[in-house]
Amino acid sequence: MNTKEYIEIEEKFGAHNYHPLDVVIEKGEGVWVWDVDGNKYLDCLAAYSAVNQGHCHPRIIKAMKEQAEKVTLTSRAFRNNQLPLLCKELCEMTGYEMVLPMNSGAEAVETALKAVRKWGYTIKKVPENQAEIIVCTNNFAGRTISIVSFSTEEQYKSGFGPLTPGYKVVKYGDVKDFEKAITPNTVAFIVEPIQGEGGVIVPPAGYLKQTYDLCKKNNILFVADEIQSGLGRSGKMFAFMYDDIKPDMVTIGKALSGGCYPVSAVLSSKDILGVFKPGDHGSTFGGNPLGCAVARESLKVLVEEGLIEKSHELGNYFRDKLNEIGSNLVKEIRGKGLFIGVELKPEAGGARKYCEGLKNLGVLCKETHDNVIRFAPPLVIKKEEIDWAVEQVKKVLV
Ligand SMILES: *Cc1c(COP(=O)(O)O)cnc(C)c1O
Repeated sequence: MNTKEYIEIEEKFGAHNYHPLDVVIEKGEGVWVWDVDGNKYLDCLAAYSAVNQGHCHPRIIKAMKEQAEKVTLTSRAFRNNQLPLLCKELCEMTGYEMVLPMNSGAEAVETALKAVRKWGYTIKKVPENQAEIIVCTNNFAGRTISIVSFSTEEQYKSGFGPLTPGYKVVKYGDVKDFEKAITPNTVAFIVEPIQGEGGVIVPPAGYLKQTYDLCKKNNILFVADEIQSGLGRSGKMFAFMYDDIKPDMVTIGKALSGGCYPVSAVLSSKDILGVFKPGDHGSTFGGNPLGCAVARESLKVLVEEGLIEKSHELGNYFRDKLNEIGSNLVKEIRGKGLFIGVELKPEAGGARKYCEGLKNLGVLCKETHDNVIRFAPPLVIKKEEIDWAVEQVKKVLV
């Protein structure tokens, strides 16, 4: 079957909750993917940063195969011999004390929401059902009802009410706005250190540190959503590490499993995650041995192959090269590490058609927020591959 035939079947039998580029991928290796017609593409999206280690990384695939032949799922009714090691290795690698594993990013965020509320009632002594969580404009944290309840994107919420109460939205990057929103019932501030879906938005210098200090002063938990920005994407293990802070809680997902299996987690202290008692929270697949074995190897690959440092160095290189194009259509090029947003001017007429153009030249990327092209290739990309990608970008942005 060819591309057209696959698309027809998907359109007929699959729900239309996405608007993908019309490329049907059947194989991936490192930064490259191949479609069913044999065309080859450089992947500059990396599955929204879930494939930081590159497609089908041989070490991760090997770990997955070996574990799949032993045992894949025990449920948490019993223990398994991979979960303890993943928790320990994650803590040693990040400096946190405790881990709660889940599957998708949205589930990690839901877990964080439950944890900070329960912490608010049991430790901070907020009156029952009064807990408030502060979030930012332009946030993205997943698609569950409670998470879209605090989205500022109308389409994410419209038609899905009644929504979950208990959130206050403040302007991303505005410390004063954050300070004004604090009340005695505020339990947490949930923030992306760099907004990914929002268009690769880096907040003003000092924003994270100042909001963090306000959280400390007011006994509010600072929760960093690093599901997209974390695990090397920004050129550091976590994007918050560019600032002098240590969030009380961090959510991770996406690249935690190198794109091989859905694995997410919440990292925090014993005091905070300790609010969960047996029966409070759970997931049938959360902490399963297959996912844990994959995540353990994915983390090792990230560190042992120096991918975090590579992201830092090559991100600067990629941005410099994009700047050198000097296109009149570009309003701003921003980001950290290999987490790059190219915002186009309104007269460019939206980012979609440039992504279509790049696809035809063999570079896959996806528009975000209508006028931003995100470049976030697997961190295993080489300089020559960046050079080649930039040549293609130059062709569409003339
Ligand atoms: C992708 C993402 C999520 C949700 O992850 P899913 O695995 O899609 O549920 C949450 N937060 C951020 C910052 C993300 O980029």
